[in-house]
Amino acid sequence: MQPAANLAALDRAALEDFFARMGEKRFHAGQALRWIYQRRVTAPDAFTDLSKALRARLNRDAAIEFPAVAARRRAADGTRKWLLRLADGNAVETVFIPEAGRGTLCVSSQVGCGLNCTFCATARHGYNRNLTVDEIIGQVWVAAGELAGDRDIDGDGVDGDHGDRDIDGDGVDGDPGDGDGDHGRGETKTKTAITNIVLMGMGEPLLNFDAVVAALRLMLDDCAFGLSKRRVTLSTAGLVPAIDRLASACPVSLAVSLHAPDDALREQLVPLNKKYPIAELLAACRRYAAARPRTRITFEYVLLAGVNDSSAQARALAKLLGDMPAKINLIPFNPSPDIDYRRPSPAAVERFRDILIGRNLFTVTRKTRGDDIDAACGQLAGKFTDRTRRSRRWVSAPAVPAPSPEMPSSRPKMSTPSPAARDETAPEPAAAAAG
Ligand code: SAH
Repeated sequence: MQPAANLAALDRAALEDFFARMGEKRFHAGQALRWIYQRRVTAPDAFTDLSKALRARLNRDAAIEFPAVAARRRAADGTRKWLLRLADGNAVETVFIPEAGRGTLCVSSQVGCGLNCTFCATARHGYNRNLTVDEIIGQVWVAAGELAGDRDIDGDGVDGDHGDRDIDGDGVDGDPGDGDGDHGRGETKTKTAITNIVLMGMGEPLLNFDAVVAALRLMLDDCAFGLSKRRVTLSTAGLVPAIDRLASACPVSLAVSLHAPDDALREQLVPLNKKYPIAELLAACRRYAAARPRTRITFEYVLLAGVNDSSAQARALAKLLGDMPAKINLIPFNPSPDIDYRRPSPAAVERFRDILIGRNLFTVTRKTRGDDIDAACGQLAGKFTDRTRRSRRWVSAPAVPAPSPEMPSSRPKMSTPSPAARDETAPEPAAAAAG
């Protein structure tokens, strides 16, 4: 007997093919999407606008399965984190960040990460595998349900965006849609629904291209989550060929983890730079931007004290991005155990930012959110077996770039969880324990 097809693993095109293979009409795909994502129904025999006979066949041949919540945490600032248990026993993390005028869901794309960026906690835990489509879109489905449940209304956890395509018509780049810490205009109410999605959780999304693109299409599909392209951001460490492929497959907002203004330093921080150096990466960004007029590429720059935060480096960065439709997102380093970097002082962050702004670069400093539950950038860990043994290497030989005079010799001081950070799931230790 054929195993039941998981409809949650199919985007619209794949669902159309699925129905066509059954000898049925392709338009049932849209109906199925609405049932699954908008009405949150997980039993095909409840798809009441399909014929009884088709429902019976679906009941037999198809299932709708998403990951289950294994642990929930809530930070003092309202940030939520869920540990999701996957069918194979691995677990990944998803974070919701409520802000004035927007609610951003940070989604993982892989179990762990193989890129080995020196400042990132996820890298220390190694890599296990790519997530499947249902595991990626399932993070949105689960979070939407949890958030709707919190509000105790019949909302779907996704903010009334269905059908809101790229018609904001505001002519403004880098608008509230781009997942980078600036606030929506005029709106001050903290959002408890998902208005934006960023692929900035665990993993390198462009190394899991096909599944990520199918999940992105579901995020955008009017019959599923219906978010506009501007409100969905994919963040990459810089896989050049895949950036080009994304431009034609599903040109959502792009964020690039730059972190250094020159190749020598970037190679130390982001080893992928050896394969795709800065000039090639920026050329790909220009091609991506050219295909999407009126939008900016977001450049993420994690600020590490004494490593990449000098005035000269700020000026070099400004020079590098001077002719790019860019927005710079400064992320003061979030500490993790065993990672020997320090966050610069607020004054150093401000100085760096002011140099960029002084050179007419649109720059925002990302506010640290949810760090008391290890939900901040670079702190996600999940729970899984490392198949690369990288985690073991880190333990025996922590690879840290040669310390500059300002680098600390000891480990950064870790913030202890604030009492307001609640572990909401009793027996299961929260995911943060792994970080
Ligand atoms: N692999 C993708 C997606 C991960 S996004 C990428 O590299 O873009 C996670 C973002 O958080 C990236 O910009 C990453 O560089 C940043 N980050 C990782 N560790 C961090 C830390 N400890 N403090 C602050 N930002 C960090």
